[in-house]
Amino acid sequence: MSNEKLPTRSENFAEWYNQLVLKAELADYAPVRGCMVVRPYGWAIWENIQSALDRRFKATGHVNAAFPLFIPMSFLEKEKEHVEGFAPELAIVTIGGGQKLEEPLVVRPTSETVIGSMYSKWVKSYRDLPILINQWGNVVRWEMRTKLFLRTLEFYWQEGHTAHSTAKEAEEETQRMLEVYTDFAINEGAVPVVPGRKSETEKFAGAINSYTIEAMMGDTRALQSGTSHFLGQNFAKAFDIQFLDWNNEQQFAWTTSWGLSTRFVGAIIMTHGDDKGLVLPPRLAPIQAVIIPIFKNDAEKSLVMPVVEEVKKQLSEFRIHVDQREEVTPGYKFNDWELRGVPLRIEIGPKDVEKGSVALARRDMPGKEGKSFVPREQLAKLVGEMLVTIQSAMYNKALAFRNANTHEPKDYAELTTIVQNGWALTWWCGSKACEAKVKEETKASTRCIPTEQPGGEGTCIVCGSHAKEKVIFARSY
Ligand SMILES: [Zn+2]
Repeated sequence: MSNEKLPTRSENFAEWYNQLVLKAELADYAPVRGCMVVRPYGWAIWENIQSALDRRFKATGHVNAAFPLFIPMSFLEKEKEHVEGFAPELAIVTIGGGQKLEEPLVVRPTSETVIGSMYSKWVKSYRDLPILINQWGNVVRWEMRTKLFLRTLEFYWQEGHTAHSTAKEAEEETQRMLEVYTDFAINEGAVPVVPGRKSETEKFAGAINSYTIEAMMGDTRALQSGTSHFLGQNFAKAFDIQFLDWNNEQQFAWTTSWGLSTRFVGAIIMTHGDDKGLVLPPRLAPIQAVIIPIFKNDAEKSLVMPVVEEVKKQLSEFRIHVDQREEVTPGYKFNDWELRGVPLRIEIGPKDVEKGSVALARRDMPGKEGKSFVPREQLAKLVGEMLVTIQSAMYNKALAFRNANTHEPKDYAELTTIVQNGWALTWWCGSKACEAKVKEETKASTRCIPTEQPGGEGTCIVCGSHAKEKVIFARSY
């Protein structure tokens, strides 16, 4: 890694992010503009995200499968809104094996259509429902302005696709997965998110209703971090997913889809990172604690290294790395692991060996405040407790930041100021015109209509007419 300093977040948040992703070796730019190479350290975070989500998907009855990368162009055209929404972002294959294809193939931007076509084949009776399938894979959306992890031509994600015999069941599934994402973001990512419903303008192309978890980044902009869609019978009708119901009558199925992508790595970076680099939540960190042996000569080394080995064994239940490099100083190593956001640093030097203790330093609390000296006995228990403490401290800090930067404007003028540097939570009549006016004049969009509403009624912050729900206006990624 390079030892040049990062720009500070307050100097230039965008540049801080770009350089941090590169320097911490999370990802790199690919030869094709807008594509991303996810490097091993970044992929290890994604693997931990995958396993935390996959566990939750299985616990709610889902199974995994794999569907093809190529989709016939005609499939996308079957659902009008869907194709309109995705047409500008499609990558289309017209030649295969040196021959012009009879029908162009789309590189999947999402898989509702191809999965819908398979469900129409598999579903015959109500006994075949529900189908609860998830797919881990990659998709391509031809984006013009790209940013590593946040928006790239190709990205990695999971997409769940379910089919049900009743609207109620499909709506419950949509909500269940929104709750799964909320629980994951809060408890694994330490990312406080607001679950809510997307406006008509912001919803998924082809959905009846889209739900989202929205997170506030360190520059107060919002990041849509996961979505869950109730598709009604739109795709079932387009792909003829029909079944014989209990009364032996043909019915169209009700479907849902839901997804969370490598974008969430970006959410972690921008929620928790500081001017020294990444700060990773212990539950998703590829390395939970790094051991740094400290010695000046061979005599000290022979004293320290056996203890390092012993401590590593003691902590075998955690993801531990021993930094054995001898060509760099301990100070360099401290900075390096701080940049990479390892939650806990364990220093072991000759004096520690003598005292039977080790020094612990918390990444989320740099300096003396986060440093402690603890006895080697019961180290595993202490480290376990400290990782839990770090995880919850990180969540609380991010939540306090969001609360401090979320305001309820008293009038439209105040709204336009608030969204320059924060979130505005306010009454909105629901009209597209009011939403568009805010976007045009401030660049802020409606992020979500939070599930948790204050109750009561008010007047729209834009037009003054009657409003039943509060919405979050914010600038977003
Ligand atoms: Zn209005």
